[in-house]
Amino acid sequence: MSEKLTFTLTGNFQYDLGILGLKNVLDFFEIYYEYDDYSVSILLSEWNKIGNCSYFFGFYFNGIEQIKKKFKLKQNNLSITDFKKIILSAKVQPFNTSLESLIDFFNISQNKKIEFASYPALSIFNVSHLNVFNPGLLTKAKKDNQIDFFYNLYMQKFKGAKPSTDFNNKTCDFCQKYEGIPINRNNFIFASSAMNQGWYERPNIHICNYCSSLNLFSSYGLLKTGSGERYLIYSSNIKDLEKDNNILANSFEELITKYIENIKAETNAKDKFFIKIIFSGQNPDLDFLPFSTELLKFFIENKNLLEDLRNNDFVGIAKDPIIFSYKDTIKAILSGENLLYKADFIINCIIKQKSGNKNFKGFDDKAIKSALILLMLSIKLKKKEENSMIDKDLIEFIEFGENIRKRLYVGKNQNTARNKAISFSSAIRDSVNESKEKFMETLLQLSIYSQLPIPQNFLKKFNDPNFNYKEAGLAIALALMSIKDKE
Ligand SMILES: [Zn+2]
Repeated sequence: MSEKLTFTLTGNFQYDLGILGLKNVLDFFEIYYEYDDYSVSILLSEWNKIGNCSYFFGFYFNGIEQIKKKFKLKQNNLSITDFKKIILSAKVQPFNTSLESLIDFFNISQNKKIEFASYPALSIFNVSHLNVFNPGLLTKAKKDNQIDFFYNLYMQKFKGAKPSTDFNNKTCDFCQKYEGIPINRNNFIFASSAMNQGWYERPNIHICNYCSSLNLFSSYGLLKTGSGERYLIYSSNIKDLEKDNNILANSFEELITKYIENIKAETNAKDKFFIKIIFSGQNPDLDFLPFSTELLKFFIENKNLLEDLRNNDFVGIAKDPIIFSYKDTIKAILSGENLLYKADFIINCIIKQKSGNKNFKGFDDKAIKSALILLMLSIKLKKKEENSMIDKDLIEFIEFGENIRKRLYVGKNQNTARNKAISFSSAIRDSVNESKEKFMETLLQLSIYSQLPIPQNFLKKFNDPNFNYKEAGLAIALALMSIKDKE
């Protein structure tokens, strides 16, 4: 058996992402490899060929439509199968031959050839290895008429490495097998950026040529969405990495929704992370959203509420911030933000809009429903804590609010009733944000005005020091606004 090159998951997401990307390329080209839960092994003698294939995979990765758009191609009969066939020929042919067939196939004009040949480097790799595949170098390639300029840069990364005979401080910290050089942003995605200060704290991290070239596959492991953001649902085993990261989505909302749809009750959230990556020369950014077992359970148990929230998705403009209700809520849940606070904020916006404040737009009936769902989700998230309501309590307060609202409309001019409802809603919201005493005072006024007594069991609840009166108040405030004006 020939010598093998084995890459093992390290727990460093940038490195492990490379392993996932490598596996995707191997699968695409049907190249022989072995793998288990934690590692992928290929034949060492094939490393160069795999590098070659991975460059060509770059033509395919963003989709053929992208190429057609970028190079203004008119053909509309490009099938993925044909395209794949041509790229596959890269396995046995030298770069220029494969490239010429691609250029012929796409009918690329003479003056666009170099740009076309650089496409994978500049559209795929430069986003993760900014220093190496610098778009500025295209001018040089054109000046020297070097069609394989970026390809050569890429393939230089597939050099062999010297085995580290005695374990020393130059040994690669990732594979522990070969001699390495200090890590930097030329050989490792995001290595020396400010977002990754850990690398600075350990300046002597070394990486060998093999592990550094593995890192070039990292783009191929990421989930793409329509926006510039890319995602990785990170786990510490290859099976989950693969399973979680094959979702096709056009947006973060869709990605999350599809992910939630497919998670199973037995999913083990240990070590799972949502990682958001923004590749940009000016503002590269990384965001880690931990995925705990509790959160997974929460998503599974509340699938229906989340589905409701998605169906009532709205975009609200509140002077400064723009609120994307579903997207923002999912992010808030993942990052452990207070949902009650979010519900309160939206309720405030609804009140402002209903009171005629022109700075607030989009807070319609869907916003009311969304705020109510947020309130429910907030209560469910806090279930384990003592000081929260249960569903039954919430419904009682909503019903009370609805009964009051009906009373407000009886025998009154519609507009007067509507304005009264909004102003009571606003007063209730203000009061819960002030104090329990203020809330009870306002509730009493409301009760007197509408001639509807406060239920006896409410008073019992309010006397319980652990009872969350804010949730109760916000539920009433919402119910006061929740039916259309004409009643
Ligand atoms: Zn290594």
